[in-house]
Parts: sequence; structure tokens; C-alpha cells
Amino acid sequence: MALQYRTKGFIYKKRDRGEADRIFTVFTYDFGKIDIWARSIRKIDSKLKSGIDIFYLSEIEFVQGKKKTLTDAVLIHKFSDIIINPEKSAVACKIAKVLEAFIHGQEHDHEIFALIIETFKKLNTYNLPATSYNLIFIYFLWNFFAILGYTPELSNCAHCHGKLNEKELYFSNKDGGVVCKDCHATNTLDSRISAQGGPASGWRGNDTAVDSDVIKILRIILANKWETLLKLKINLSTQKELNNISKNYYLYLLSSYSFKK
Ligand SMILES: [Zn+2]
Repeated sequence: MALQYRTKGFIYKKRDRGEADRIFTVFTYDFGKIDIWARSIRKIDSKLKSGIDIFYLSEIEFVQGKKKTLTDAVLIHKFSDIIINPEKSAVACKIAKVLEAFIHGQEHDHEIFALIIETFKKLNTYNLPATSYNLIFIYFLWNFFAILGYTPELSNCAHCHGKLNEKELYFSNKDGGVVCKDCHATNTLDSRISAQGGPASGWRGNDTAVDSDVIKILRIILANKWETLLKLKINLSTQKELNNISKNYYLYLLSSYSFKK
């Protein structure tokens, strides 16, 4: 007898198969990421179609055979505003890409589940200036890194653990956080020795000079102080720097992240 399961899940990817089938990628509460096969769901009279779609939070039931086949889907929450607002949609797609890149094995993680739902609720509810939606993405990204075990060190130097001078800060992907002026100088020197074919150095990759405002924002994000974050007036250059640091750390983690399965 085939085993049947019921759980809630957030749908973040879909693709069509055959004449009327569709595969959904769902981050479920009980099983983590699963791909689920929805037979004939694109037919007009499909009973399942109202219960499951991209960016839905749904209660799903499936049968585990060779594949997981959807047998029931009940909508719990539809993030309607995200679907109709292009800026919100763009952020939602970026979040979906991050999930796609980092989540591979089928393993439940209630913290990730909660973060996804919390982020989508924010994205759906808040009406912000168009450029501010990206801040929701950044908020999601760093908290997601933290859950994966990559909380950046932002209080002391990530390399020597010494005190930081807020006026002169650098971000090091390899050290996973902010490094002080002295550690940055040693690293730069090591990079030169290494480039000249010198003895094996401890070069940790390039550091990026970073404004203290960017680090302050990251501290607020990682402390989950959403309301404080919303009240900040963030100028364009700080926004750019924040995006840049986030993107670099994302790419670094992606290249070095050891997938569980
Ligand atoms: Zn240091």
C-alpha cells in the first residue's frame, strides 16, 4: 500500500510536464524541500488547481510512490499582492532562487520555514517605495545565512577578534564578517607576496572596504529589528554597498557551501 502524507508547505517553483501535469517545488514544514507531481492539474476541471500555485502556502496531501503525487491541496494563504505588484514579484523570485540554490536535501527545518513565511507576509503586507522592497530581500538573505550557520561576525574583528574601529571596516567573506584595519593590511600584504609567487601565504581573498552604516544595518537585520529597519533613511550609496556586500557573500557561500545531500 502506498504511503500517504499530509503537511503544509510553501510553493516556490513550478514547471509544466506533458499535456496537463505540473511539478511543484515545495518547502514543507515536515519534510523540507520536496518536488511534487500534480497530475492533470492544468485541466479546467481539476479539483486541485485552486489549492496550489506559485507563492501559495498550502496544506498538501501526497502519495509516496516512485514519485510524490499530489492527492489534495487546500489553500492556507495566498500572497495576492505579491503576484500583482511587479516590484514585490521580483523580490519573491529572487528569494525563490536563493531557496533553489541552497536547499537540496529533503530535511525539515522549522526555522527556514518560519523565515520564508515571515518574509512573504512582510512582502505582501507592506507598501513601500519601489526601491525599498529590496531591503526585504536583504533581510531574508542574511537571516537565511544565519540559519544555515553563517552568521557574520559584526561585533569584533572576525580574524583577530580584536575591537573594531567603526571608521575603518572591511568585510571578509572567508573570515565571515568584518575585519579590522590591521588584519586587512596583513591580508593585503599576503596577497602581494602570493601574487609574486612568494611562500605560501595566508591570503584570505580580497576584503571589501565597508561603511559603518552598512554594518549597522546588518546588525539591525540580524537582530530581527524589522520596525527599526523600516524607519531608517538609507541613502543610495549605502544601499548599493549593502547590495554589493550581500551579493558577494552570497556568491562566496554558494561556492563553498557543502550541500548535505
Ligand atoms: Zn583584526
